[in-house]
This record gives sequence, C-alpha cells and structure tokens, in this order.
Amino acid sequence: MQSYSDFINELDKRLCSYAAFFKDFIMCKEGCSDCCENGDYPISQPEVEYLMQGYALLENDKKIQVQKNIQKMQKGGACPFLINKSCSVYKYRPIICRVHGLAYLCAEGTVKLPYCANEGKNFSSVLSSGIVEIAPIKENLDTKKVISLYDSKAAETIKNLIDWIK
Ligand code: SF4
Repeated sequence: MQSYSDFINELDKRLCSYAAFFKDFIMCKEGCSDCCENGDYPISQPEVEYLMQGYALLENDKKIQVQKNIQKMQKGGACPFLINKSCSVYKYRPIICRVHGLAYLCAEGTVKLPYCANEGKNFSSVLSSGIVEIAPIKENLDTKKVISLYDSKAAETIKNLIDWIK
C-alpha cells in the first residue's frame, strides 16, 4: 500500500492546483486562524497517527503548550495544536485542515463552502443569498471520501479530534 505521506503529497498537489484556480476567491493569509479556532476537526486513524508524528518532532516548550491546550480543549473550540495563531504541526495536519478554504461538491450534490464564506472571507465575493455563483471543484473533498481513497476502512474510524486525544 502507498505510504500515507505519499498519499498526502499527491493530495496536496491536487489541492494546490484547485487553490491556484480559485485564487481570486481565496483570502487565506498568515495570521488568520479562524478555521482553527472554531471546529470539531473530524479525523481518521491514519491522520491521527501522522499528526502525532508531527507532535513528536516539536520542541519541548511547544509540546508543553499543546498539552496545556488539550486540557482546556472544548468541543467546537480551538484546536490544541494552534500556537500563536499558527499551526504547530502544519506539515502533519489532517485532511480537513488541508481542504479548508475551498468550495467543492459533496456527496449530496450540494456545494460545501468554507466556514468563513459568510464572514466576508473565502468565496464571499461570489456568494449571493447562500448560493455560490461559480462552479465548485468537482472532487468531493470531505474527509470520509478523501481518506477512503487511501484506505476504505480508515473512513470508518473518523471521530472528532477531542475524542482521539482527550
Ligand atoms: S491541526 Fe493545525 S491546521 Fe488543523 S485545526 Fe489544528 S492548528 Fe489548525
């Protein structure tokens, strides 16, 4: 089986091309961490294992900060790996973090928009009465769908980050 890091590298290539295509509608920039401050972060077992590889490589002071953040972690709140508005495990982040910012077609044939579209950020310039006025990415980027391209059984392990680590 393809290694998980190879799989993620291939996914990143596709996401980069999507982001380049939609660059006029994407406003993600350094210092904006809204998507890491409000969420449940559903992730699967291979993603957790990869995330923990990233955690193991952190310097001690950052590990201590992450542990403190885990103690305070609440459902729907900030991700414990967020330190000073920046992801401490960026290279190892889960799929949901990688696809954030993009508008894509999901299983029900509806368009999934980024959390911040209604807050004047990504895709807000082409959003009218809740409907996005441009054709979205045709690939379903929901974690369940993406991780099943790597391992169909992994899709059955998805649960919220808080339930993996707290
Ligand atoms: S893992 Fe990183 S990118 Fe994902 S929610 Fe946490 S801080 Fe944000």
